[in-house]
Amino acid sequence: MFLCFDIGGTNIKSCLTAVDGKCLDNISVRTPETYEEILHVLNTIAKQFGQFDACAVAVPGTCSPESGEILFCPNLTCLNKRNIRDDLEDQLNKPVFVENDANLAALGEYYYVEKDNINNMIFLTIGTGLGGGAILNGELLSSDISLFEAGHVNIEPDGRQCGCGKRGCLETYASIGGIIKTYESLSNGKKVDNVNTIYNAMKAGDKIATLTFEVFGGSLGIGMATLANILVPKKIKIGGGISELADAFLPHTIKVFSRNIYPAYKSRVQIEVSTLKNSAGLYGCSALCKTKLGL
Ligand SMILES: [Zn+2]
Repeated sequence: MFLCFDIGGTNIKSCLTAVDGKCLDNISVRTPETYEEILHVLNTIAKQFGQFDACAVAVPGTCSPESGEILFCPNLTCLNKRNIRDDLEDQLNKPVFVENDANLAALGEYYYVEKDNINNMIFLTIGTGLGGGAILNGELLSSDISLFEAGHVNIEPDGRQCGCGKRGCLETYASIGGIIKTYESLSNGKKVDNVNTIYNAMKAGDKIATLTFEVFGGSLGIGMATLANILVPKKIKIGGGISELADAFLPHTIKVFSRNIYPAYKSRVQIEVSTLKNSAGLYGCSALCKTKLGL
């Protein structure tokens, strides 16, 4: 059995899984403010679950899967420069593995949904930000630093200011905040507090809301084409909260993607919505434990 943690800026999701990935028990709690409190929460959940063979932690930022150190979490800065793997191993006395959350979502979706069908895949998680992971020749693309910051591919020179310090990053357009910004700018400053309001307005025939999802879908299509030109995946799958609204943007994404991808690759890449959706990260933790232990 594997102990799986997905640490987000708002919640810590956890799951005890069987070797086949089946979730046996799960707990979700609000993410506390300090690193020490986070460690305490993880340890308490581990005790509640009882026996397990290994643990994997999905972290919301850049980490080193080799050294276990977390390097940069923009939305949960208390994790920066901490070695969560070593600290947890001390507490749990079991092997602990760490990876970036979007990389693990890619691994989970691949391992439990696509493994028997394809070898190469890109997975994008779209919510507060845009994260990504890639599977190449059946394995998660990984290194001594977590890879594939898809959200920070540039799609607009001198475009919107990104939280990473650069301008024009994909996630400044293709994320929840990006959609809201687009709507506010197209409607000359009309305030809106969530994406569902824009989605419902689009359903009711609002032209600005429709255009907002076209801008979002188009930005995503350009970003996807850039990534696909490099890795030529068989599939690009979309997960995260925004994937629930795919009917509002996916046709436009596919249209713009087809116009921008290198012509020889065009018919090789399918774009789909994720099957595991928001659970993909926890499934990825389970898959990481399994592959690391050679089971
Ligand atoms: Zn950026």
